Amino acid sequence: MPTYTGSCLCRNIQYELRLASPDDARTSLCHCRNCKKVFGANYGLTAKVAKDAFHLQAGKPKEHAADNGSGTLIYREFCDNCGSFILEYGEAAKDHSRYVCVGSLDDPEALPPKVEFFCKDRASWMPEIPDVAHKQEVKE
Ligand SMILES: [Zn+2]
Ligand SMILES: [Zn+2]
Repeated sequence: MPTYTGSCLCRNIQYELRLASPDDARTSLCHCRNCKKVFGANYGLTAKVAKDAFHLQAGKPKEHAADNGSGTLIYREFCDNCGSFILEYGEAAKDHSRYVCVGSLDDPEALPPKVEFFCKDRASWMPEIPDVAHKQEVKE
């Protein structure tokens, strides 16, 4: 079973993703305004994995919960020492999925993207990623 290790910048928080196959992770870019803010960049990059695939090995992230602007509560977990963003999940996904920040993986190229969300909010200077699905928002 492939295991992917990751951590925050200061390594107080360390985790493993245990997947039966790399196909069990769905990595996506998201260009929405919330992702720009929370990642401090022009898009967010997360890998959706089963909740049970995420194993915290060290440390305890700080949790921040906020409405995403359309009535959905989003939970985000950070290192309270160095500030690295580790993962997020929405209220509906709480019991089954985690969206892990791909840049926190020790090998950030291990899980390449399969889809781009919120292309309508793409930075004007950023080209489309070839050979992935493109959604204007989430569903279409
Ligand atoms: Zn840290
Ligand atoms: Zn987003």
